[in-house]
Formats: sequence, C-alpha cells, structure tokens
Amino acid sequence: MTESTVAIIGSGIAGASVAWQLTQMGHQVVVFEKGPEYPYPYRSQFRERVLYRYRNPAHRLPADLKSLTASGTYRHDINREREMWVGGSSTQWNAITLRMIPEDFHTRTSFGYGRDWPVTYAELEPYYCRGEAMLGVAGTDEDNHFAPYRSMPYPLPPFELGARDSIFAEQLRAHDIALHTTPQARTRRGYDERPACPNFGTCMVACPVGALYSPAHHLNRAVQTGRCQVLSNVSVRRIVMDGHGRARSLVYQKNHEDAEEEVAAEVVVVAAGAIESPRLLLLSADDRHPEGLGNEGGHVGRHLAFHHLWNGSIVYREPVLAGRIGPVTGQSHQFLSPPHRGPHGGVKVEFSANHLGRRENLRSATTASDALERLQRRSRRRGIFLHAESVPTPQKYVSLSRERDRFGDRFAHVHYESSDFDRETHAFSQRIYDRFAEATGGEKEYLAGVDDFISGAHHMGTCRMGTDASDSVVDSFARVHDTVNLFVVGSSSFVGTSGAMNPTLTLVALAIRTADYIASRLL
Ligand SMILES: Cc1cc2nc3c(=O)[nH]c(=O)nc-3n(C[C@H](O)[C@H](O)[C@H](O)COP(=O)(O)OP(=O)(O)OC[C@H]3O[C@@H](n4cnc5c(N)ncnc54)[C@H](O)[C@@H]3O)c2cc1C
Repeated sequence: MTESTVAIIGSGIAGASVAWQLTQMGHQVVVFEKGPEYPYPYRSQFRERVLYRYRNPAHRLPADLKSLTASGTYRHDINREREMWVGGSSTQWNAITLRMIPEDFHTRTSFGYGRDWPVTYAELEPYYCRGEAMLGVAGTDEDNHFAPYRSMPYPLPPFELGARDSIFAEQLRAHDIALHTTPQARTRRGYDERPACPNFGTCMVACPVGALYSPAHHLNRAVQTGRCQVLSNVSVRRIVMDGHGRARSLVYQKNHEDAEEEVAAEVVVVAAGAIESPRLLLLSADDRHPEGLGNEGGHVGRHLAFHHLWNGSIVYREPVLAGRIGPVTGQSHQFLSPPHRGPHGGVKVEFSANHLGRRENLRSATTASDALERLQRRSRRRGIFLHAESVPTPQKYVSLSRERDRFGDRFAHVHYESSDFDRETHAFSQRIYDRFAEATGGEKEYLAGVDDFISGAHHMGTCRMGTDASDSVVDSFARVHDTVNLFVVGSSSFVGTSGAMNPTLTLVALAIRTADYIASRLL
C-alpha cells in the first residue's frame, strides 16, 4: 500500500480548489480523477469544435465507466449534464459566478420552507472574496441594488451590457425592473497569468486562451509546486475506514487494469460531484457502516435539488441583435427574494443578448419565403431564462442503480419529480416573463412548461450539511459527522439549492473554508 497526505477524489472545481489551497500552504496532495486528461488551454478543442461539437471521443470516458439510470419527470439526460475528465464540468461552464444572498441561508426561519444552513452569509463572506480572487471574477455591484454586502471589490471590472441590452435596461427601468451586468469568471483584463478575454464570444464551451476560468488553471499550477499529483483514468471504488472514525485508505483501480490498488491517506476529500459523491459513500459500505459511510441518519443521496431553468422567448417588431457576440451580460436579481417568497421560490432572470431563445424549425418550412420569414423572425427574437430555486422532497434523490460499471460497482440512480413548490415557482416565473415582454414592447412567444425545465447541470444536495448525523451527512466544514478526517466538498453539501443563484462560486467558497479547516486542524 502506498501513502499520501491528502487524497482528493475528483479533479473538478471543488477538488481543484482544495488541492490549490493546500499546496499553497505547503501540503502534499494527490488528486484521483476517473476521467482522462483534457488538454488545457482548450485550443485543440476549439479548433475541432465543428468536427466533434466539443465531444471528441479521445477525451471521453466510455459508457461502462460514465453512466447512470434515471426515473421521475425530469426530461433531460442527466448523464450528459456532467463532464468527467480532468477539471470536471467546469471545463465547459458559462462561468457565471454569483454569491447566494443572505436570506438563502435561512429559508426555513424566514419563509417556512427548506432548511436553514449551519453557516451564514456573514461567515462565508470572506471566503466568497477569496473564491472570486481565485477564479478572477469580473463584475460590479454598482448597477445591482439587490447584490448582498461585500467586504472586497470584485478583482476585475465587469463585462458591460451590450448596446441593445442597454436599451432594454432603460425600458425595464421605466417599469420598475432592474437589468444589470453579470459577474463571471472571465478575464475582463489580464489576470493571474491568464490573458484578457477578447470578448468575441465565439468560443462557446471551450475558451482557447484560458480567459474563461477552468480548474485546470490551478491544477496545473499546483502540480508545478511539486506538491500535487493528478492521477487521471483512475477510479476510486471505495473508502476504507478504521474502527476509530478515521478514513484509512482508498481502494482504486486504473481504468484499463484488472487489479485494485490501495493507498493510505491522512485526510480523504470526496469531490466527485453531487451524483458520484453519494454513490461513492454508498459503495463504501462495510460491517460498521452497512448503509454506507456517513449514512447513519439515512441522508446520503437524499435532498437532491436541481435549479429549474425555464427557457422562453419574446419577439419584437425590429431586429434586436440577438445572438450578438460576447458572453452573457444582462440579468436581473430583483426576483430572488420577493415579498411573497414562501409558497414559491426565488427566480433569477437571464435576459442577455447572447440568448437566442427558441430555435426555428426550418425543416417544416413549406416554401423558400416561408423559411426566410422564419429566419427573419429569429433576428427579432430574444431569449429569456427564468432560473429558479427549488427545494428537496422525498421524490428527489440519488441511490444505487441495478446496473453496474466495468468493475461491477453499481451505477448511481437519480429520481427526480417536480413538486407543488416548483409548480408555484413556475407560475411566478410566468408572471415575470409577462412583465418583461410587456415592459420591452415584445410579443410573448413561448415559455417552457413546468416540467420542460433544464437543471443547468446544477445538481445539489445529496450529502447535505447540518448539525448532526440525525439530520445530515456533513458538518458546516464538510466533514462527515462522527469521522475525523473524511470530507465531502462540492454542491452535494448544499442544504437544497443555492437559492436561485448558480452554485459554483458558493461551492468554491465552502471548499476554501474546508481546506483552511484541514490545514489548521488535521495536518
Ligand atoms: C454546460 C455547463 C455550464 C455550467 N455553467 C455554470 C455557470 O455558469 N455557473 C455555475 O455556477 N455553474 C455552472 N455549471 C455547473 C458547474 O460546472 C458545477 O457546479 C461544477 O462543475 C461542480 O464542480 P465539482 O468539482 O463539484 O464536480 P464536477 O465538476 O462534477 O467534478 C467531479 C469530478 O470527479 C470525478 N469523479 C467522480 N467519481 C469519481 C471516482 N469514483 N473516482 C475518481 N474521480 C471521480 C469526475 O470524473 C469529475 O471530473 C455549469 C455546468 C455545465 C455542464
């Protein structure tokens, strides 16, 4: 059996944040990544984008290593919503980096739904600042009166509203609706050895120059310190505990080899995403933990929540420059915590020029002029995303599937059904959509139905944090209850969703806090 100081399972943004922070403090880490290398910066992926549509098979895990089963009412392929290679899903993200608002941490007390987090906004605020500095977030609160308190300015200036967005912002303001810029982990100026974003917006999900933050940026630099190793194509199959509440070792297998190997670790950090992290805890069941690690209270895999993103479109009389080049800009935080929050959740509105909205079906065009008319309509269309909070229910969970992977381990099974709360939130979103159309003088064209949402690849909960094992899996430092040295970082530790805000900045802030805890208490 070999040895490592801190073993991190998963090289996504959560694992990379812990690895970077600990190596900066002089500690040794080993990162185990199931997926293959994903060369960074993403020049080759950008060059090949037409050929492979960002899905070059050379970089992908085969289906007998990356799969899951699903049931319920969610209509999209959850397996395709996650990337499993070095860097995880944040290699392909939009990099919208928002803080939760203070009320999101105590929805039970303030609005009567969900549960309160065991950590407050005030406690997390300094870690949000560190997270923004690490990712290089461009933003401002000057145009956003709904932004929560911050103790440090954004590290970079914002990406401005586009020309047409500015006109929409004026129209919306006349109807008491705020539209403001979007904080994002994209370099408005050169930052931390990353070049400035040229702001062409043609890169989609593969920034060729490294202006869009990727966890690979810090993984590579952690490796350069000589204190971090990243082992790709290696699947961790289970965590082994000793009889004293300590994680002793990991059992892993190189993807193309037949034999298991074992590595001892002083500290184990599970950072495998909100679906694979509970799966690994469940697969690690032993005589002392027959239901899986951290599962004394039966909470592992439960309390899953997605964001519900309802896509809509509005059509105008004149072309509105929809699909303009550049990253997302305009959004509204005005509806995150409306006065009537409680029967329904908060909603963030994305009304950015680069959202085109519904696609035209040109195949069903009957004549050339019909096709032309449809294309012209496209230039007059603006997409709108209603990005909504949701709450966990017993009908939203991750468990083990009957189907097995290459090693004989059961895949994850995801069950997800919308609730009455989600239906109320959809009705609220419909009212917001109506107001946006009316304020900007557009014709309402389409808003997705309640079960036509996408999750935005925002999978949360499943190893939620709380005060003890009877109600949760980890404590507020992400340490599994009743263990000394086993942690679960990432959005799986969320207590429900991150309000209506994109989750990743919050999970990075929490991961930095966990790294501090590990360094100060355990190493
Ligand atoms: C297209 C897209 C756009 C997005 N845009 C945004 C956005 O704008 N803003 C935002 O906040 N969020 C966004 N997200 C969500 C964001 O990417 C996720 O919140 C984030 O990647 C989660 O990070 P993670 O490190 O917890 O998990 P992951 O990124 O899922 O990484 C987990 C890693 O663990 C590895 N792993 C799993 N099991 C094992 C095992 N047993 N052994 C070894 N390794 C294992 C996986 O292969 C994977 O690489 C987006 C996601 C997608 C897909």
